[in-house]
Amino acid sequence: MNEAIANVICCPACHGGLRSGRGRLQCETCGVTYRIQNEVPLFIQENVVAVSSDHVSNPIGADFEAILRKGDGVILHIGAGATPQKYPTCIEFEHKIFKHTDVVGDAHQLPFRDGSFDRVFAFNVFEHLREPARAAAEVARVLKPGGTVAIHTAFLQAVHEEPAHFYNTTEYGLRGWFADFEIEKLSVTPNFSPGIMLAYLMSSVVNVLQESGISWREQTIVQETTLGEWADFWAGKTGPPDGFDTLQNLPQAAQKKIAAGFELIGRKPIRQ
Ligand SMILES: [Zn+2]
Repeated sequence: MNEAIANVICCPACHGGLRSGRGRLQCETCGVTYRIQNEVPLFIQENVVAVSSDHVSNPIGADFEAILRKGDGVILHIGAGATPQKYPTCIEFEHKIFKHTDVVGDAHQLPFRDGSFDRVFAFNVFEHLREPARAAAEVARVLKPGGTVAIHTAFLQAVHEEPAHFYNTTEYGLRGWFADFEIEKLSVTPNFSPGIMLAYLMSSVVNVLQESGISWREQTIVQETTLGEWADFWAGKTGPPDGFDTLQNLPQAAQKKIAAGFELIGRKPIRQ
């Protein structure tokens, strides 16, 4: 572990300082110990997977790559995945050990001191967090005053990395999670454009049909419908397109991947 990392990490539970010894870190305040694996401090108690070093994650976009290459400020990259190269001023934070991972932990309880970073990046992370607002508050805590955050998160996306996909958010939900920040810009980037949305959702429909063992003939009927037919049906101008009943009758497990919403029926337990 290099000095830059040693200087900013702290106990995620109480923010106490850490002392190292015998391949472990121990909190000087609350006494909790944390493991070190492959020289990476692990701030979660579960087993941590080391991912093969030939794995490379999707690129994060030219503008952010340029900031990382330039080493513009001290950067925390949450959910960095497997980056193509190691950047000098960036701490890569993950829940598994990828090639360049520096610290393993939980985004809801960051193991970093207050005011440690000039920038925080979290791309395609927040839809996978159980409590996004809590993680946003942690981002605020570890940023220096005036520090910036860059988030990419899901809106109209199919379920992915299940079961660890908890929230798709509208713009307004996203603004709510980051209500304590000054929002400089909230926009749709080319990787999230309506064309990407259609491609992603339509491919999910096709995949679900295939996985459900629907006959090739019935799959073809759905695939040959047009956007306009679905729009006209929704607007009440026509009846449902051919293939509507195929989708209505998919097994529940298949429907859950591409549904418009869910019904939940609950009951308060008699004994608490
Ligand atoms: Zn502690």
